[in-house]
Amino acid sequence: MRDAETYDGWEPPRPDIARRSYLYRLAPIGVGTVAVESLTGYISRLAAAHAVETGILINRELRPRIPCTKGAWAGRLRESLPDYSFYVGAHTLNGVGARAQLWVSLLEQLTCVERLNPLTVLPWAGTISCVHLLRTSRVWCPSCYGDETSSSQPVYERLLWAFQAVTVCPLHRLLLESVCPFCGRRQYVLASRSRTGYCSRCDRWLGGTAEAPFFRSDLTEQTRVAEMVGALLAAGPTLPAHFGLALFRENVRSFVRDAGGYRRFHAGIRQPYVRDWIRRTDIPRLSSLLQLSHSQSVSLIRLLTERIDGGNKPDQECVWNAHYRVAASVVEAALQAARQAAIPPSLQEIASQLGYRTVTSLQDRFPALCREIADRRRTEVKNSRPSPSRAPVPRGRIEKALIEELSKPGFTDLRALTASVGLSNKMRLYEDGFRDLRLAVVAKNAAIRKQRVDGIENSLRAAFDEQPVPTVTEVARRLGFAGVAPLTSRFPELTAGLRARRLQAKAARRGRRVSEHVRERLTEALGEFPPPSCAEVVRRLAAHRTQIREDFPDLWCALHTRYVEHRREVHRAKREAFAGDVHRAVVELHRQGVYPIVRLVLATVPQPQFRSLNIVAEAVRLARHKLSIKSYEAYRDDA
Ligand SMILES: [Zn+2]
Ligand SMILES: [Zn+2]
Repeated sequence: MRDAETYDGWEPPRPDIARRSYLYRLAPIGVGTVAVESLTGYISRLAAAHAVETGILINRELRPRIPCTKGAWAGRLRESLPDYSFYVGAHTLNGVGARAQLWVSLLEQLTCVERLNPLTVLPWAGTISCVHLLRTSRVWCPSCYGDETSSSQPVYERLLWAFQAVTVCPLHRLLLESVCPFCGRRQYVLASRSRTGYCSRCDRWLGGTAEAPFFRSDLTEQTRVAEMVGALLAAGPTLPAHFGLALFRENVRSFVRDAGGYRRFHAGIRQPYVRDWIRRTDIPRLSSLLQLSHSQSVSLIRLLTERIDGGNKPDQECVWNAHYRVAASVVEAALQAARQAAIPPSLQEIASQLGYRTVTSLQDRFPALCREIADRRRTEVKNSRPSPSRAPVPRGRIEKALIEELSKPGFTDLRALTASVGLSNKMRLYEDGFRDLRLAVVAKNAAIRKQRVDGIENSLRAAFDEQPVPTVTEVARRLGFAGVAPLTSRFPELTAGLRARRLQAKAARRGRRVSEHVRERLTEALGEFPPPSCAEVVRRLAAHRTQIREDFPDLWCALHTRYVEHRREVHRAKREAFAGDVHRAVVELHRQGVYPIVRLVLATVPQPQFRSLNIVAEAVRLARHKLSIKSYEAYRDDA
């Protein structure tokens, strides 16, 4: 005790030993930067660190500890794990869902590395929708991998490459690759044979210094998107725990308010979406966020994490409109050339020659030059106009021209008239002296116009009674129009009616054609022998029984009667033949001294056509009567 009081300074400090971890404590790369590693990439590297194949680590150590998230096994561990579907959906391990959460916590637990969730999109889980967020196949930047042997940088898979919206490596400004140059195949984000930097199908090195591309397209915009998404990833670890959509919603609300309401808010996003973000608290998709950020010239990260007021809105770092497609030197040369021209072309002309839709790109970069060109153009154009010092056009000439026009039957183009008398515009015609003449011309024009319109209407109405009914195009052509628009725009109902009428006539014609065919076949059937039954005729025509009966009642009736009579005739003939057979049998029996009772007669007829006892008995009775054979009783008494 006393020793302890005396020597308390001797108590050795506890060694700083990290907690024992089950798997190697591999530090993730690039957390808090644009180039942060992806969780799937981390798993591959972890497998390599244990010198096992990725599939072995996943199937032996990781998957057996992850409870199912879907189906009958949800929430429980599965004993046997199907392999086929796991890698297909492995991209979701980098995502925002429950699955990513499970894998992150498992890996944190096994490796004792704190916070692996910045390797996924989990920090943005409540803020960005998972729809169309991540791609299902692997992409990569060969330059980021570098050379297989001499690479001094650590080789790993970037989380940034996982996003569907990202198509460019912002560091190297190269399009991301998705097809292996050796085997020409795509790969899943994670595969059983995944190795960082290698093709998981043919196992060849995917890195290398990129050759100069054959066609260097403009990647400014794509790079900008990649940078903005990268900024989100970099901010991931520093986000407060309860980060949500509140700021975003407020920002959208203020954009809408600034624009003057939903109807005036044009951000390239459909109006209901915007409304649902605010009212129904929907989670926006990344593509919509990028669109909004583009249209509002605000970076993605500011949109989600800062309050943006009207005052601080313009984002100096992210001027979206300024994507300089044409090099500044080229633009400047074009502007200089324009400035030296006798009459400089308009800025719009220069812009469209350079491939821009508006002049903004020019004015933003060379404001002074643009102003100078515009000023010079204005003065030069003014000077080049014919001087108004020429003698004014005499009154008489104008008056004469107007009177002449009035006497002509056709339409008068006042503009052409003023040009023909040497005026530069119609202003002189509005002087008091010409008022009546001008109004008369206008009235004449109106009358002609009305006449034309009436003509159209009459032609259309007349067309209804024509046989065959003409098309609207035909009517338009008769009236001298190239298209149907002058007719359809003035008389939408009439033209629609004419079209309907034409269709009707066509249908009626078709109906008539069909019924003619039916009539022919029915008439033919009437001449046939043996006469066919009505059912047989209907079957041959493949038509509807009632329809035929209603359309051709006479023919139908005749057919039916003929058939019934024929059947009756056939039956009668059969009865007669039978009676003959019976008669012969009775004669024979009688000759033999046997009394012809019904049963014996029936047995004697070789192939009796009737077996019904009634019919046979009747025939036998008739035969006995003819032969005057007495009844059986009398016969027996005689015997
Ligand atoms: Zn790169
Ligand atoms: Zn390959």
